[in-house]
Amino acid sequence: MDYDVIIVGGGPAGLSAAVYARRANLKTAVIEKLTFGGIITTTDLIENYLGFPAISGADFGKAIQEHAMKYNPDMIQAEVKLVKDVDGGYEVQTDAGNFTTKTVIVASGAAPKKLGVPGESEYFGRGVSTCATCDGPFFAKKDVAVVGGGDSAVSEGLYLARLVNKIYLIHRRDRLRAEPILQQRFMSLSNVEFVWNSVVTKIEGDKKVNGVIVKNLLTGEEKELKVSAVFIYIGEVPQTGFVDVRKDDHGYIITDENMQTSKPGIFAAGDCRHSLTKQAIISAGEGALAAIAAQMYIEGRLKATQELANPSAPNRHSYGVRLGQTLRAYGKCFVLFAD
Ligand SMILES: Cc1cc2nc3c(=O)[nH]c(=O)nc-3n(C[C@H](O)[C@H](O)[C@H](O)COP(=O)(O)OP(=O)(O)OC[C@H]3O[C@@H](n4cnc5c(N)ncnc54)[C@H](O)[C@@H]3O)c2cc1C
Repeated sequence: MDYDVIIVGGGPAGLSAAVYARRANLKTAVIEKLTFGGIITTTDLIENYLGFPAISGADFGKAIQEHAMKYNPDMIQAEVKLVKDVDGGYEVQTDAGNFTTKTVIVASGAAPKKLGVPGESEYFGRGVSTCATCDGPFFAKKDVAVVGGGDSAVSEGLYLARLVNKIYLIHRRDRLRAEPILQQRFMSLSNVEFVWNSVVTKIEGDKKVNGVIVKNLLTGEEKELKVSAVFIYIGEVPQTGFVDVRKDDHGYIITDENMQTSKPGIFAAGDCRHSLTKQAIISAGEGALAAIAAQMYIEGRLKATQELANPSAPNRHSYGVRLGQTLRAYGKCFVLFAD
């Protein structure tokens, strides 16, 4: 096997997994198709990651990348196309070659969801954007639309409001669902007009965006807003098509509490995983747990630990003995059974 663990994705989940895997002496590769640091590198300001009261996405991405690189994992710039079963592990097929590994940690995150309306693809990069920090400065003093009502829409709207003349916040509901602290700041801005209960049905332009058509979902009425840009924050689509494990209806990977997927030796962490919410600190924590679980899996301890916790497991006693033998390497060990 080329590696003990291959981590797909170099965001907070993947890089945190890399730190833990390397500190456990596992031969580790992180494969990233775009930017080491992950999608958070595109945001202007992070205020809720413990230890960083206020940091830009770019600086945060740099910090976590440098931290991971301190432990020398192989950092491979490539897109993973397929994870295939092979004897004793998996083959990870990429556009830069194939690698074999005992375990895989899928930390591939989720990509911004598209509106799917006429004009969106045509004007992408010419006024249609999913990254205010990257593209916002091009629209200084112009009128723009932000679509969505969650954390991303509001935090990116806060950033844009400092640059642009006016923001139309277009949201399909009649209230925001972003964190209350972000909502309060956004609601107090003087250059935001809320377009509630509405969806974008068309993006118009000539060579660049020059307007959007919005439809009120309650009245059916359509109107045009003259804007130079449309920033879209309506959710995400998990990037999990390359791996065949159990997923929910939206494609998010389902794991147990140890980040183990339906296939032994494949773990998932972060935004690509079915979970309550998506945040960088949660991804980092899950990445750490996935790496520890991968290490225990390689050492034959993961199953033993799970079986020990399950009183009805038929092999519980033999797992207890095996776990005891492994742990004895670290010093004295007692495995006690009450039954
Ligand atoms: C605009 C915006 C603002 C945000 N602000 C905050 C905030 O203030 N605080 C906060 O906690 N969270 C914030 N988030 C959420 C946060 O960015 C995510 O929760 C976090 O980045 C998820 O980390 P991750 O490692 O799971 O996934 P990601 O950061 O998405 O990383 C996954 C990586 O995998 C790579 N990848 C995907 N598929 C493949 C493949 N096939 N082959 C190789 N590589 C692949 C991707 O290119 C990506 O770099 C924000 C998100 C957005 C979009």
